[in-house]
Amino acid sequence: FLTLQRLTKTFGTHDAVADLSLDMPSGEILCLLGPSGCGKSTLLRLIAGFETPTGGAIRLDGTDLTGLAPHRRPVNMMFQSYALFPHLSVARNIAYGLKGLGRSAASARVDALLRLVRMDEFGNRAPETLSGGQRQRVALARALAREPKVLLLDEPLGALDRGLREETQGELRAIQRRLGTAFVIVTHDPSEAMALADRIGVMDKGRLVQIGRPETLYERPVNRFVAGLLGDVN
Ligand code: ATP
Ligand code: MG
Repeated sequence: FLTLQRLTKTFGTHDAVADLSLDMPSGEILCLLGPSGCGKSTLLRLIAGFETPTGGAIRLDGTDLTGLAPHRRPVNMMFQSYALFPHLSVARNIAYGLKGLGRSAASARVDALLRLVRMDEFGNRAPETLSGGQRQRVALARALAREPKVLLLDEPLGALDRGLREETQGELRAIQRRLGTAFVIVTHDPSEAMALADRIGVMDKGRLVQIGRPETLYERPVNRFVAGLLGDVN
């Protein structure tokens, strides 16, 4: 489904992503875990098309995405800051990417998305009047509006406090399961990766150190780095 082949991104002399290959089946939640600066966001930005790779290829269902502009890729990205448009209502934020769809189809899609994220009562609200968790759900609905095949989420729960984060992990998984969209979720929190992921990819210095099911990484880490990262998860 999604294939990265020897993907590399070099800034100056520094490889932010280094010779990284991976295969992802459709419908999976893949969590990318690793320390600050290891290249997680850069990898998402490469897949989304906001960065051009220095080398390697990105394929989706056999099609090379590398030359396609971001809005032409069947991929969307949700940012940690949510980046909602402050001057647009919740419903208009979600409808923003749906211009080609026609008014009634777009409004039906927006209603369905508001229900999906349990925000049906909030369509007319301004983003600034929402709580952090509500903003997160609107950002998720907006990112899903164009029905991407792959959704890239960069620290999607990073702005939420601990209790809300755990509650939202379950919701995020439930939504992903209902839609069947592949999610690539970046986190630096090992317990979050354990809770969310079908598979975890551990990154260090631009490389993919190990990828596998959470239990496998926990029980059979390939090296001390992976062991140390997952070792203190309770
Ligand atoms: P964090 O967990 O802190 O968000 P990250 O794993 O997302 O970290 P990246 O943002 O992908 O890390 O950065 C990886 C490396 O690439 C860092 O050393 C960073 O300084 C560098 N880098 C990222 N973007 C650029 C850029 N536009 N120009 C130069 N260097 C960059
Ligand atoms: Mg980052």
